[in-house]
Amino acid sequence: MKDEACIFCKIANGVIPSTTVYEDEDFRVILDLGPASRGHALILPKSHFRDLCEADPLLTAKIFPLAGKIGAAMKQGLGASGFNVVQNNGASAGQTVFHLHIHVIPRYEDGPAMVSWTPEKADTEELAKTASMIKKALKITR
Ligand code: 5GP
Ligand code: ZN
Repeated sequence: MKDEACIFCKIANGVIPSTTVYEDEDFRVILDLGPASRGHALILPKSHFRDLCEADPLLTAKIFPLAGKIGAAMKQGLGASGFNVVQNNGASAGQTVFHLHIHVIPRYEDGPAMVSWTPEKADTEELAKTASMIKKALKITR
């Protein structure tokens, strides 16, 4: 499935050129044009899915193994000391291109750790209430 208006469909399928580091029948992995660090890569499925909620689970099952392979190559090939795997769903989560993609961001000693948040103090009652709302949506009755 492709979306004619989608730039990542065009990049993933080679219609628009990109700096590609890996390709197989399901994915193309490219370097991000606005990198968070040297080697910041994007895993692009060749099929169009808006986000993780819409994606085929048979395809998404392949993403973590591939992210691990790319991350290992960043460590070996670029001297990265770690890497983040980041995936944004929805504009409120920072998604700007609405074709499922996974960021693999190499990290270097003394570099910034950019995936961070300020932890709040959790309230036990509030946690239970929140959990029951999620479980209801998951149709879990226990
Ligand atoms: P999002 O914020 O949707 O999770 O991430 C979109 C990412 O795609 C951004 O990091 C942005 O720099 C990158 N990007 C957007 N357009 C292009 C493009 O045409 N080519 C490449 N290589 N990266 C792009
Ligand atoms: Zn697309």
